[in-house]
Amino acid sequence: MSEAEAILRESRVPVLRDVPLRTRTSLGVGGPARLFLVPGGAEDLADVLERFAAAGVAFDYLGAGSNLLVADAGPSFVVISSEGLDQAPEISRETVRVGAGYSVPKLANRVAAAGLSGLEFAEGIPGSVGGCVRMNAGWHEGMFGDAVSSFLAVSRHGEIEEIISGPGTFEYRRSPGVGDRFVAAATLRLTPDDPARVKERMKAFHDRRVSTQPTGAKNAGCIFRNPPDDHAGRLIDACGLKGLAVGRAVVSDAHANFIINQGGATYRDVAALIDRIRDTVSGKTGITLETEVVRWT
Ligand SMILES: Cc1cc2nc3c(=O)[nH]c(=O)nc-3n(C[C@H](O)[C@H](O)[C@H](O)COP(=O)(O)OP(=O)(O)OC[C@H]3O[C@@H](n4cnc5c(N)ncnc54)[C@H](O)[C@@H]3O)c2cc1C
Repeated sequence: MSEAEAILRESRVPVLRDVPLRTRTSLGVGGPARLFLVPGGAEDLADVLERFAAAGVAFDYLGAGSNLLVADAGPSFVVISSEGLDQAPEISRETVRVGAGYSVPKLANRVAAAGLSGLEFAEGIPGSVGGCVRMNAGWHEGMFGDAVSSFLAVSRHGEIEEIISGPGTFEYRRSPGVGDRFVAAATLRLTPDDPARVKERMKAFHDRRVSTQPTGAKNAGCIFRNPPDDHAGRLIDACGLKGLAVGRAVVSDAHANFIINQGGATYRDVAALIDRIRDTVSGKTGITLETEVVRWT
């Protein structure tokens, strides 16, 4: 990390030290980020990344931490947070420009109030805009990428470019068009509609979510990707794994694809539970589940 320290001494990017990631992730698991960067602009970040790349410094990006499982000792790399890039949505007719660090539930509510349809499904996805672009977050028929017309990206070598979405930019829960770039801001193209009707549809999504998913418990959303033509939650439930626990981590009774931190769960607990689920489902059904949650070690 000393190479990184030397680069950061000459940069304008604010740096925090030893930031506990269990307080920055929805699962509430993970040790400290030794170096935690909070860039306030794409140019400042690009400058640092160019120098990190030349020096071989390892780094990764943090949004709202709602899809992360972090090691108990903390990540072995520099963490770059989007929280300083949280520019509020600028709405011009059906086009919305918004910073990567802005909260997606807040965005969904803002655009609904402005009479724009397209993010109703996202009101209960507790990610940042950048994280939802990178993960192509979605629920039922909605996918974040469907609303994204372009995004401001910073490559791992520090090049800044506005990338226009096209066929293949977004796939189920991944974004080949984003790749390993940092997303600094996004432009969305939505559809004008009556605000009351948009809010009604949002409420229907909300009601569906609270009746099918755990609420008020620490979790990271769905742990596994859905296999083709099936649901990971259905398979895990069919294998009788609801309630299975390792240490303080347990498979949710409300939705079998959620792992709950009952308080004090460790990375080892959650990782061991993930392995037990995957092995059991594979043994009983022949289907090998792939994780959706991103691991930081
Ligand atoms: C209660 C709950 C419900 C959920 N429901 C859903 C759901 O319905 N659908 C769904 O798809 N997901 C859901 N999730 C998971 C999660 O909210 C999404 O995956 C979301 O997109 C993660 O965004 P984030 O900002 O929290 O990203 P993080 O968890 O911080 O990071 C996730 C990944 O994105 C990368 N990343 C973060 N920010 C950036 C950036 N600015 N640029 C480039 N890469 C970046 C990280 O490096 C990491 O690889 C849920 C989670 C919870 C806790």
